[in-house]
Amino acid sequence: MVTGDCLCGVVRFEIDGPIRNIVYCHCSQCRKAQGSAFATNGIVRASGFRITAGEDALTGYESTSGQTKFFCKICGSPILSKSESRPDDVRVRLGTIDSDIEERPVAHIFATSKANWEEICGDLPQYEGYEPGRNER
Ligand SMILES: [Zn+2]
Ligand SMILES: [Zn+2]
Repeated sequence: MVTGDCLCGVVRFEIDGPIRNIVYCHCSQCRKAQGSAFATNGIVRASGFRITAGEDALTGYESTSGQTKFFCKICGSPILSKSESRPDDVRVRLGTIDSDIEERPVAHIFATSKANWEEICGDLPQYEGYEPGRNER
């Protein structure tokens, strides 16, 4: 069982099952949503993701048509996003997880959208858009 919460601790969640396709996303939406150079997102099954406390404090913003980013309205922590085209999955913001996890990031995505002040380091593959194989389970 993996657990996490927001900065103020009001919104708490649990994840059952693997975290797939952990990626560093450098797209401009993720940069603005996180206030940082990139977002670190992983995909989990919607059926394995549970809000265990503070559901009332979770609010959403539809950043793209059909795609909503959910965050704590008290402290602003980004927690997850959901896409109408992928109802079985949620994308979790990995920085809100407290547990140590086995899974590791596999790629940098939207690497060509990165801020001009950022230098992407390391050996992970970099993709112009989404990573290949993200629709496989
Ligand atoms: Zn909070
Ligand atoms: Zn992104």
